[in-house]
Amino acid sequence: SSSVLWFRRDLRLHDHPALLAAAADGAVLPLFVVDPALWRPSGDVRRAYLLRSLRALDARLGGHLVVEAGDPAEVVDRVAARAGARRVHVTADAGPYGRRRDDAVARALAAHGRELVRTGTPYAIGPGTVLNGSGKPFQVFTPFSRAWAAHGWPAPADDPGEVRWTGGGGGVDGPHWPEEPDLGDLELPEAGEDAAHRRWADFRAHALAGYADERDRPDHDGTSQLSHALKWGEVHPRTLLADLRRHRSPGADTFRTELCWRDFYADVLWHRPDSAREYYKPQLAGLRYAEPGEQFEAWSQGRTGYPIVDAGMRQMRSVGWVHNRVRMIVASFLVKDLHVEWQHGGREFMRWLRDGDLASNMHGWQWVAGSGTDASPFFRVFNPVTQGQRFDPSGDYVRQHVPELRHLPGRSVHTPWEAADGYAHGYPERIVDHAHERRVALAEYARVRG
Ligand code: FAD
Repeated sequence: SSSVLWFRRDLRLHDHPALLAAAADGAVLPLFVVDPALWRPSGDVRRAYLLRSLRALDARLGGHLVVEAGDPAEVVDRVAARAGARRVHVTADAGPYGRRRDDAVARALAAHGRELVRTGTPYAIGPGTVLNGSGKPFQVFTPFSRAWAAHGWPAPADDPGEVRWTGGGGGVDGPHWPEEPDLGDLELPEAGEDAAHRRWADFRAHALAGYADERDRPDHDGTSQLSHALKWGEVHPRTLLADLRRHRSPGADTFRTELCWRDFYADVLWHRPDSAREYYKPQLAGLRYAEPGEQFEAWSQGRTGYPIVDAGMRQMRSVGWVHNRVRMIVASFLVKDLHVEWQHGGREFMRWLRDGDLASNMHGWQWVAGSGTDASPFFRVFNPVTQGQRFDPSGDYVRQHVPELRHLPGRSVHTPWEAADGYAHGYPERIVDHAHERRVALAEYARVRG
């Protein structure tokens, strides 16, 4: 007998409960479906990364991966029929679209006596599981994180041993394989499960101990850069959490907390699927915003005249990743200095980020916009100059991403207007006056608050 393992955001073989469940049914046909509903709106960066990750997965599967394109409700049932499989195994999807899609696939399979079996999720604890004392979802991170830690998570899944892979294979570069987008100069890290494990081992050895202090420094290489690997499930957070047990340090505690943020935002989206687009807290929905225009373009291309903002947006376009501190700074600048509504920024991030993830991204933006769960209050407006001086005190981060400012030494790179030769190499003038725009944002906030 045989079953189908339909891969989605679980592109790995280690610590994979759904794979164990599938292998228990006998031979396993590994399937990936290029779903137009997800593929079309994805940015080129995420598409390219996904294709590379699938290539890496296929290599580990000995070339057995079957790739099909189309509506999963139709495709998955057809592949299961062809394979003579009674069960299709998946890792449960917690996102709004994924849940609807999986329900539709389950119905299509059931109509022919087949079953969709959901085992595990991409999170340490499945979204919707951690509830407060009255059985309600948490709306604030800290109490969630306490309940999350108290709940605990399962140990990593056993090694599946020898799996009998079946299926025609030939999916990679086959008839349904999409053309890989041309990313120009944008460089992606190596994709796949092995690369993710190497990165994690390297981070553990060199950066984990100092992570609590270093994670806010974009000029240092102090974070794991595993967000894209977690996004695609090349590594499961539970694998990382198990390893962290062996590394007791403030760095390990802080890293655990960051993984909890990822679980928290997925949990929020589970309970409030609308919060990827609508205001989580509606009180600020009445703020007036500008339509994205020329200033939005300048922001997106890294030409605002504020060095840390421009460095962040250029980092995004050159490697498809931005340091967390700088994500907050550029997001605050768009919402509070350029007065553009957070959803526009969120969509631009989804277009460029290799780790673009609906829950983490949109709730990250809501946090900055003051309408999210643990709202950083709207009136706390980031000053892009002092943020740069504080978190990139060496100035190395700006110089790395903004060549027109490389001639300015140390932290003077954050204030080119104070240097005689600040604009000697074509760096743009500031497109807005931060002090003025801050007042405009606060006045608008006061109006809405009455
Ligand atoms: P590390 O510091 O090494 O953290 C380890 C892991 O913890 C990360 O890989 C990530 O999975 C998780 N994590 C860390 N911080 C957060 C956080 N604030 N929220 C949720 N999970 C977190 N993260 C994404 O994965 N995808 C996104 O699309 C995304 N968009 C964001 C948008 C904004 C406006 C902001 C402020 C944050 C966003 N984040 C997003 C969260 C965070 O910036 C990234 O997860 C982090 O920068 C990834 O780098 P890293 O892997 O080196 O992180």
